[in-house]
Amino acid sequence: MKWTNEAEEMIKRIPFFVRKKVRARVEQEAMARGSQTVTICDVDAARKRFMEKMSGEVKGYQLDTCFSQGKCPNMANVSSPLAERIESILKQEDLRDFLVKSVGRDIKLHHELKVSISECPNACSQPQIKDIGIVGACVPQITDTPCTMCGKCVDTCKDNAITLDENSEAPVIDRSLCLSCGACAKACPSGTIAEGQKGYRVLLGGKLGRHPRLAKELPGLFDEDGVLEIVKRCIAFYKANSKNGARFAEIYTGPECIGIK
Ligand code: SF4
Ligand code: SF4
Ligand code: SF4
Repeated sequence: MKWTNEAEEMIKRIPFFVRKKVRARVEQEAMARGSQTVTICDVDAARKRFMEKMSGEVKGYQLDTCFSQGKCPNMANVSSPLAERIESILKQEDLRDFLVKSVGRDIKLHHELKVSISECPNACSQPQIKDIGIVGACVPQITDTPCTMCGKCVDTCKDNAITLDENSEAPVIDRSLCLSCGACAKACPSGTIAEGQKGYRVLLGGKLGRHPRLAKELPGLFDEDGVLEIVKRCIAFYKANSKNGARFAEIYTGPECIGIK
């Protein structure tokens, strides 16, 4: 769908937390009319309708994924089935009903529980500012295969986590700097660095708004079932403790509050 420059400018002025939804709505409506181009009038009309009926749009949660769709070359771990499984939990929990009871009929999109999945540490879907952020990870593993000292792994690592040890003729990975993106394993032509454990890093308690904060990472790497268990625990904690629409991020104080040591 083509957008005029004026329409693009106007959509940028719509609050970021509803922009994606309004954009999708504008395109749907333009397509239904048989139009190939979105104009400033389309955006303005959709914006007014959307903002007037905002509480009807609230489903209680927002689940974002990065735009990899299983095809991005940077993927550390594929998350599409995970997204479906998380969405199924979020639906079962009926968070809209919980919010209506907690906030009243005038619930807004900013009250929703926000969950985001990125398939690598580049974090295109901004998991750091969501209540629950999930990041695909692939831990690099040093194998017994001799290293040719070609230096490709060092050049590839954006986090300067790899050094080549001239004496032992092998790479050394500083695990405190490594983000488990798996790029070095993909780049290593000899197989000296290979893909090790794959899973997800989980970040909790991020938000924007008047008091923004970055999510804090739980220690360890989780498999799909582990992530789902954490999501369930977060929702249980949120439902038991959130009052008057307080976001999960506002009440989360650390792993112990969801029963993780
Ligand atoms: S988060 Fe990583 S895998 Fe997802 S789109 Fe961004 S770069 Fe690609
Ligand atoms: S996985 Fe490899 S490339 Fe990625 S941060 Fe760790 S050492 Fe660097
Ligand atoms: S570990 Fe692989 S990429 Fe790094 S220097 Fe050795 S052979 Fe090259």
